[in-house]
Amino acid sequence: MKLKKYHKILDSSAFIGGYTPSDEKNYTTPEVTEELKDLKSRILLEKSLEEGKLKIINPKKEYIEKTEKLAEKSGDILRLSKTDKKIIALTLQLKNENKKVMMITDDYSIQNIMKIIKIPFKSVITEGINKIYQWEKICIGCKKRYPPDHPSIQCEICGSKIIKKKRK
Ligand SMILES: [Zn+2]
Repeated sequence: MKLKKYHKILDSSAFIGGYTPSDEKNYTTPEVTEELKDLKSRILLEKSLEEGKLKIINPKKEYIEKTEKLAEKSGDILRLSKTDKKIIALTLQLKNENKKVMMITDDYSIQNIMKIIKIPFKSVITEGINKIYQWEKICIGCKKRYPPDHPSIQCEICGSKIIKKKRK
């Protein structure tokens, strides 16, 4: 799936999962930005805004109402927070502006609504797991292998540097 073709809508889990906008076609809502509390996702958010790669849009009321009807029909109404509903509403709004949209989320209820309205979505965490499996860390001295999330850059056996390497 070529992400560049799409206007991407990011929910909180996209930022928390470390999704990094690479072009200027990324959108979110004010509620999502308020939800982000951890330092890593706050930095990601601020950097994206500074670089002009993210727009914060408050969706129009008519699309919020549409979302509520959709969620009621699908049975997801109780699982969706106000933030979730507004991010779905923003998706509907951009789609209505004839934009090719894609939702970036790890939330199953939001993904479920995307299936119903036939909007493609992408999960960040799943992507992250794939990446973890392709990498390992290895000591440049004694060649000891470490898991990809090993926190230190110094080998505990020989003291040499540990580098990230593609797993064969
Ligand atoms: Zn070593």
